[in-house]
This record gives sequence, structure tokens and C-alpha cells, in this order.
Amino acid sequence: MRIGAIEAGGTKFVCGIGNEQGTILERVSFPTEGPEETLAQVIAFFKDKEVEAIGIGTFGPIDIDPSSPTYGHVTTTPKPGWTGYDFLGSMKAALPLPYGWDTDVNAAAYGEATWGAAQGLDSCVYYTVGTGIGMGAYSEGKLVHGLVHPEAGHVLVRRHPEDTYEGFCPYHADCLEGLAAGPAIEKRWERKGVDLPPEHEAWRLEAYYLAQAAMTSILLLSPRKVIFGGGVMKQPQLFPLLRQEVLRLLNGYVSAEAVLSGIDSYIVPPGLGDNAGLCGALALGIDAANQAAD
Ligand code: ADP
Ligand code: ZN
Repeated sequence: MRIGAIEAGGTKFVCGIGNEQGTILERVSFPTEGPEETLAQVIAFFKDKEVEAIGIGTFGPIDIDPSSPTYGHVTTTPKPGWTGYDFLGSMKAALPLPYGWDTDVNAAAYGEATWGAAQGLDSCVYYTVGTGIGMGAYSEGKLVHGLVHPEAGHVLVRRHPEDTYEGFCPYHADCLEGLAAGPAIEKRWERKGVDLPPEHEAWRLEAYYLAQAAMTSILLLSPRKVIFGGGVMKQPQLFPLLRQEVLRLLNGYVSAEAVLSGIDSYIVPPGLGDNAGLCGALALGIDAANQAAD
């Protein structure tokens, strides 16, 4: 089986070809431009590849309700030209195939549940902490969809009493993304995260906010694994700080051994590393191919 995969990010697009084992056989990557220019490159890549289906994990918000007239569209995004764009429809018009379609973070959660840190488990949450913060949720063996899709990057967090940074989210003053995504670190400390030393207090504050999000997910969804990926999580010292803070916040309330004595293997980086999103898109594509064959 040759399946196409698209990880559509706000900064860059990654397209790949993979198989049922989750192996990526070939890939390309290019910067995200306007929708027409970008999709022209995507379509050129897949044109002669003879894939059976394509899975798409994309930045959003997007319409994932198959009964909606705007299913497959990007809904509201600050990315120029993409608001209201019929992403899935344009792909189908150029390359008529079965398609899987979900958010980039739901795809990453699915990739991790299929081949990564949550392999064999029926639930996990996947956070990406980068230019923004997004969360994908896999629960009872299915990706969580609903009214739209989870938007847990924008949950409210309790502000640290000594944090005077106002937050950069244009919608909310005190949301997780506005206070803890890469740009918040850079603006608060006037230095990029990558240039802050591991012992800098920035990381303790970062863990303070991320732990609140992790706690909320643990309480709401009871996931069997909590995965944190994205550029900011390349700071390895964040994981022990984050785990410690989650334990402090939960204060023994969730009496599961995975949390109480196994936190080091409960809150983890992606098992698939930087491939979580692309492999997740591949898993969505495999499902689409199998459904079409049924
Ligand atoms: P994107 O979210 O755009 O897909 P990334 O996940 O790489 O891409 O996130 C980019 C953000 O992460 C930027 O704000 C950047 O400063 C920050 N970042 C990238 N690498 C690191 C690092 N090693 N340490 C700390 N912050 C980083
Ligand atoms: Zn927000």
C-alpha cells in the first residue's frame, strides 16, 4: 500500500509517501504561502506517485463535520488567503482519491497512538508547543470531534503572580497559548527560547503554565498518555519541571499508578519525534483507503 500524507503547518508543509507499517518512504517540505501557490506544490508532488489515498493533518481551525456544507474548509485563520479556503475540495478536484482529514494535532495524537508513545493505548492527548499551542485528543479509540474540534491551546490558565507579561493571544488575555507559546517566551524575556539557558527561570514559569493544561486534560479526558511536542519542548529540562508541577497541582487526587508512581513515562515527548504529525496524516490516509475498500 502506498499512501500519501500531508502535514500542513502554518509555517511549512510536509508531504510524504508511506506504507501500512508507518514507514515514510519519501518526503518533501516547503514554506506555507497562499493556498493556491502552496497546493500547486502539493499537487505537483503527488501527481505521479500513484498513492491509493491521502491523509491530511492541517493547521486550523477547520471544518471536520462531514455533514456541513463547508466540510474540508479552513475556517478562521490569520494566515493570509486561507480563511474560508476549500482545502479538501481543491485536493479532491486535482487528485480524485479517498482522503483523511483532521487537524494537525489530532493527526499527531493519532500517529502517536498508532506507532508512537501511546501505541496500543486507547487514549492520549498530544500538545504541540511552538508558534502556537494546539492539542489533539484520542479517546476510547477515536479522535475527539464535536461541535468543531478541541481548541485546548486557548484554555484559561491561572497567571503566575509575578508574571507581568500581558500575553499575545488577540482573543484572550490569559490563555495558555498567549502566555506559554514560543512567541510569549520570546517577548517576555526579550530573547528566543533557544537562547535562554536551561537554568533560566523562564522554564519554571513555562512548566507552571503547561502543567495547568496537562492537569485540565487529565481531569477532563483521563488520557492514558500525555505527550508534549513542538519546538519549545526541545528543551529537555522542561519535562522534569512539568511532571513535578503536575504532581504538585494534582496533589494526589487522581489515584492512578501511572500518575502517582509512573509520571516519567506518563508525560513524555513524542515517540515519533518530529514525525508525529506526518505519520498521523499517514494513519488517516490508511483509514481512508481501508474505508474506500470496504
Ligand atoms: P511551528 O509551531 O511554527 O510549526 P515549532 O514547533 O518549531 O514550529 O515552533 C516554533 C517556536 O518554538 C518558536 O517560537 C521558537 O522560538 C520555539 N523554539 C524552536 N526551537 C526551540 C528550542 N530548541 N528551544 C526553545 N524554543 C524553541
Ligand atoms: Zn487565546
